[in-house]
Amino acid sequence: MTIRVRFAPSPTGMLHIGSVRTALFNFLFARHHGGAFLLRVEDTDTERSTEAATQVIFDVLDWLDLKPDEPPVFQSTRYARHREVAEAMVQAGTAYRCYCSREELAEMRAQADAAKKPFRYDGRWRDRDPSEAPAGVDPVIRLKAPRSGETIVHDRVKGEVRVQNAELDDMILLRSNGVPTYLHAVVVDDHDMDITHVIRGDDHLTNTFRQAQIYDAMGWSRPEFAHLPLIHGPDGGKLSKRHGAVSSLQFRDEGYLPEALCNYLLRLGWGHGDAEILSRDDQIKLFDLDGVGRGAAKMDYKKLIQVNAVWLRAADPDRLTALTLPRIEALLDATLTPIAAERVQKLMPRLQERARTLAELAESALFLVRDTPLPFTPKALALLTEEARDDLSALLLAFAQTDYTAPSLYQAMVAHAEAVGKKLGLVAEPLRAALTGSTTSPPIDAVMETLGQHDVERRVFAILAE
Ligand code: GLU
Repeated sequence: MTIRVRFAPSPTGMLHIGSVRTALFNFLFARHHGGAFLLRVEDTDTERSTEAATQVIFDVLDWLDLKPDEPPVFQSTRYARHREVAEAMVQAGTAYRCYCSREELAEMRAQADAAKKPFRYDGRWRDRDPSEAPAGVDPVIRLKAPRSGETIVHDRVKGEVRVQNAELDDMILLRSNGVPTYLHAVVVDDHDMDITHVIRGDDHLTNTFRQAQIYDAMGWSRPEFAHLPLIHGPDGGKLSKRHGAVSSLQFRDEGYLPEALCNYLLRLGWGHGDAEILSRDDQIKLFDLDGVGRGAAKMDYKKLIQVNAVWLRAADPDRLTALTLPRIEALLDATLTPIAAERVQKLMPRLQERARTLAELAESALFLVRDTPLPFTPKALALLTEEARDDLSALLLAFAQTDYTAPSLYQAMVAHAEAVGKKLGLVAEPLRAALTGSTTSPPIDAVMETLGQHDVERRVFAILAE
């Protein structure tokens, strides 16, 4: 059997990070088993579905390199088929037309409320002869659901779950305007797309019983189900904006790398021993549904940022440069000159060792491309004492004797420190302050080599001239 799974988001808003984890799990499961990963856009809620939200789905899957293996299926293009199946069920006697009026349903609901019971349609059209149909009423089609016994689902994560059929009523499959209900459309589409495994959030678990009944009524074999525990916030509540980012694109905007976000999301609710950092290849090799945890996973933003830092250190410097330059331009609201861009590229291997996100990376590179006078942090300013200024002018002279490569600049700094009887740090720190405006930066010799003699001197002169 070829494994086929699908990611089935509704394009009704931002793509929640929990949905992205569902996509990732589906993708890895498909790849692990040499199967296919498909995308179905569930755009049947015409009032809430938007093109912009559909585009976000494509963009996020692209960004995270979770591309589907076949063209996307848009659920709204399949209404005719959904209707056809509902009609076939009526023909087969597993579904029926219900002509209940709004008033009748309201009355049923009121009675249930009064009895403090959940509302259930009472099945009054279940066995009625169609000749009794009132004129001028467009009927809905309802499933003739089993009344006794149980519906049992063997979930790959939850284990065996069951419900008494008496607790489920005859759900609507097709509305009176001919539009399928969501529950019905999903089953027909999953069947027609040959989906073998439905992997989705456990907020859909209750739908599964009803959907199982549709499969059974059609005599279709059910797919396997795997319901993933939802992601909770750090405080245990449902993950929402008050905890931090929840929209997938916000993570991109905040400067997370796609491989880091996927790595983190995978570990959130799936484990393989203590392995924390896993490449995509390793993920594919190791992922299976057995490793999915049963408990709710807690989003830990601190952990995510640590994982991102690891991936940032390992990333190709030229790729990071390409990702960072537009951020620097946005921060400065200016276009960078080729020389400025080259500096960022040159120092990137040292910058990426220190930053945890692309946003931090851009911030940390700003000093390279800024003109004098640089903005100074108070700590950096405090280092620029009279004595430090004397050292700075002596250092400039010494540096001028070198070839301005990091090793020789370093040697010159060491020699000067020895000559004036100071620890190297006491000489290097004011120099860093003068050249970068701050007290943290990559090694100062590498910074100087990147800035070049002309700019080093200009920056130091700007201090000495004050
Ligand atoms: N469209 C549903 C959602 O966005 C998913 C349905 C499913 O996976 O079966 O939550």
